Amino acid sequence: METSVPAGILLAVALLLFAPQLAPAANLRISVRGAGVVEMPPERYVAAVLAGEGGVLQSDAALQALAVAARTYAVRLKGRHASEGYDFCDTTHCQRIEPKGITPRLESIAAESAGELLWYQGKPAFTPYSQDCGGRTEDAGAVWPELAAPYLTSHADPNCLRGPAAWRSSLDPRKVGQVLRRAGLRAPRQPERIAIAERTASGRARTLLLSGGGESVRIAAGSFRLAIGRELGWNTLRGDFYEVEGNGGQWIFRGKGSGHGVGLCQRGAEQMGLGGSSWREILAFYYPGTVAGLTGRGLAWQRLSGDRITLITARPATDRAALSTAERQLRVLAARTHWPVPDKIELRVFPDLDTFRDATGEPGWVAAHTVGRRIDLQPVATLARSGALDSTIGHELAHLLVESQAAPGLPLWFREGLVEYLERGGETTAPPRAPADTELLDRSNLQTARRAYAEAEAEVTALAGRYGETAVLGWVRRGLPPEVTKAIASQPATKSK
Ligand SMILES: [Zn+2]
Ligand SMILES: [Zn+2]
Repeated sequence: METSVPAGILLAVALLLFAPQLAPAANLRISVRGAGVVEMPPERYVAAVLAGEGGVLQSDAALQALAVAARTYAVRLKGRHASEGYDFCDTTHCQRIEPKGITPRLESIAAESAGELLWYQGKPAFTPYSQDCGGRTEDAGAVWPELAAPYLTSHADPNCLRGPAAWRSSLDPRKVGQVLRRAGLRAPRQPERIAIAERTASGRARTLLLSGGGESVRIAAGSFRLAIGRELGWNTLRGDFYEVEGNGGQWIFRGKGSGHGVGLCQRGAEQMGLGGSSWREILAFYYPGTVAGLTGRGLAWQRLSGDRITLITARPATDRAALSTAERQLRVLAARTHWPVPDKIELRVFPDLDTFRDATGEPGWVAAHTVGRRIDLQPVATLARSGALDSTIGHELAHLLVESQAAPGLPLWFREGLVEYLERGGETTAPPRAPADTELLDRSNLQTARRAYAEAEAEVTALAGRYGETAVLGWVRRGLPPEVTKAIASQPATKSK
């Protein structure tokens, strides 16, 4: 475990802050049907899960609760498909994702709680969720015996009982027999009767007894439902919370809820949210005893408002200085660029390196990280010790401003070079060049990345000398002029040594 970073390294790497949406370090590998294995930054994955699993939710609080549950689920179960070469599949086996369904609203909901997890006794909790618990949640142990947990025991849920949630299905016993045998399960040759032989703590079916023609067979309700669902459709039996009548004739299932019923109930969460509960209250209700936060250590975060920036800190006395530094730098940048300052900028300062790494997924040598309008910063003392506090904050603010203005498709070398130019004043002695994205994003080779940044800065400095700073700043919104794009395209692709 790293405890301190040599000053020189941290200072150097403070210049290596990436456009956050391109940060490769903590990407998840998702197997997407029809597209192979796709890499995805964690918060984009969370937004894709919201689109895939929570698309019908209207309440922001319910979606936010689901975002924290989905993120925690991912952290806890990451690598379950490691032997197949990826972290998660895109089905309900892991979490259903719908990348094409990501909306700006879902993106901002994921970004708002970025890094927040649900903790139990200092470890990320196991946070399953289902569509509708039907009025009573299920014990985790009844569904996954090895994953039983004190915060996942069956309890009443009055929230989801509003509105019609009951369902009814009738099945032909002979057809059921065929379906079960095709699924490799035992079944009486002439099934006539069905009964619930055993129930779980919540009252759901655990074991069914099928009989007829002098035979009787016990079968797990879960296996029964999966076999029926696969062949007759997943809506035939929406869960195991049902009564069944079956004595000759058709078998009639009358159920409520849908899904396994363990953990957060989306239907109930939606009602809580629409009724004014916060996402924290929703999570506390469905995972009682867990703590939401950036770490399992129960840090008390406070918000201090400046003129344009809100500081989020666990150590207000130490970190207040970072807020005034940031406010000052933002004024300077806004005056120089004449760009409007985005509202709701947040500066979150971490009290120690471990917390920073846990929350951002960044290695300890990355000094800061920006997602949307929030800058996550390493401890002030660490940065100040190596003289990197001002330049790190300045770099991130310049990024935030540039990204808030950037035209679609604006090249990475130009964005990074401009940020360096604005923040450091174009003092580099590197030869001007437009480096490839791969060089700028290479975290395995510090030398390559540092040289690429210096070259990008030199290129932007040269352009500002030739066309004037005002023109170069204008390109951020309008895109690069054709003559510049053409000149860049004719540069040699090989790296200068
Ligand atoms: Zn899976
Ligand atoms: Zn419920």
